[in-house]
Amino acid sequence: MPLIGAVGRFSSLYPTTAMIFSPVYILIMIVTAALSFWAQHKVKSAYKRYSQVRARNGMSGKEVAEWMMREAGITDVEVVAVAGQLTDHYDPINKKLALSEGNYAGTSIAAAGIAAHEAGHAVQHAKAYAPLNWRMGAIYLQRFTSPLLFIPMIAMMLAPALRGPALILMAAGMGVIMLVNLITLPVEFDATRRAKLALAEGGILQPGAETEGMNKVLDSAALTYVAAFVGSLLTFLYYLSLALGRR
Ligand SMILES: [Zn+2]
Repeated sequence: MPLIGAVGRFSSLYPTTAMIFSPVYILIMIVTAALSFWAQHKVKSAYKRYSQVRARNGMSGKEVAEWMMREAGITDVEVVAVAGQLTDHYDPINKKLALSEGNYAGTSIAAAGIAAHEAGHAVQHAKAYAPLNWRMGAIYLQRFTSPLLFIPMIAMMLAPALRGPALILMAAGMGVIMLVNLITLPVEFDATRRAKLALAEGGILQPGAETEGMNKVLDSAALTYVAAFVGSLLTFLYYLSLALGRR
């Protein structure tokens, strides 16, 4: 494991400064930020473009979401509008499908795609799609393990002798975040798959330009999740190499 060697050279330094000034750590931060920025830029520019293109069928995002859920036999999920841009989400606990204002009332191909994607999450929930349940479980676990990312760091500063066990706990905390991001991938890809299928089969978007525009919005949105996973994986491996290197 080449990471251990590079990190080991800094082990005589103060633990946290060793991590911050390690070239490997800085490289991971740069790669993660660049990936995330690139994916965010892609989704924002695709959204900016295709939220201006009206779909010929004239349905609003709200109508598309309601139609897709009705087709799947879902009657207990309310479609609501939320402030902001690209703030769209499905809330499984309160059974609410929240669309950003522009997509709620908008009749663009971006609005149709995003509304159908969120409806895809509602369909996953109704059908007890396993990865969605795993993701909800992993997020619950993350709530309990998130203190592992800073409490051991404080302990390590107060008592350098605790560095070994503290690094193992931090690696575990980061591992849970990586796991959440990993499980999110099938959930997101499946919601987009369901959206594309429904929009095509229901004739909501025309084949050709309308479908291609919608694909660009949803596929670039999926990339942001891939970027988040890669970033958390690299960070987890770094923490793990530190923990293993100290044993
Ligand atoms: Zn989603």
